[in-house]
Amino acid sequence: MSDRYPSDWDSRRRRVYRRDNYTCSNCGVRGGAYTSSRSSDGAQLHAHHIVPISKGGTHKTSNLKTLCASCHNSIHQKSAMAPTHRSQRDAGKAAVNLTTNQKVIGYTLIALLWLLVVGLNIFAFTGS
Ligand SMILES: [Zn+2]
Repeated sequence: MSDRYPSDWDSRRRRVYRRDNYTCSNCGVRGGAYTSSRSSDGAQLHAHHIVPISKGGTHKTSNLKTLCASCHNSIHQKSAMAPTHRSQRDAGKAAVNLTTNQKVIGYTLIALLWLLVVGLNIFAFTGS
């Protein structure tokens, strides 16, 4: 990291961790309140630049999000691009799976209702 960090970087990244509830926004692992590698109360947290500094991003907290050390490392190893592309695509995939499941449940309910109505009609006809 050769970028110039602001003098209040340490308190700034802690604000980001607190805002994100000390939770990695990629994998959801909980981190500790402190980011020392000796931290024993959770994963090590990093403040990740959503828009990289090299691409004109800022050190503002609005451009920062909390990642655990392993997600942060893998993101920077895989690609220099902002990781939001990947996580947004994964989130979209999850949403598609959810709606597919909901459709299946919906069709099953409709089929059951239809069977119930047909069954009741048959019962009514045969009963009279
Ligand atoms: Zn993570």
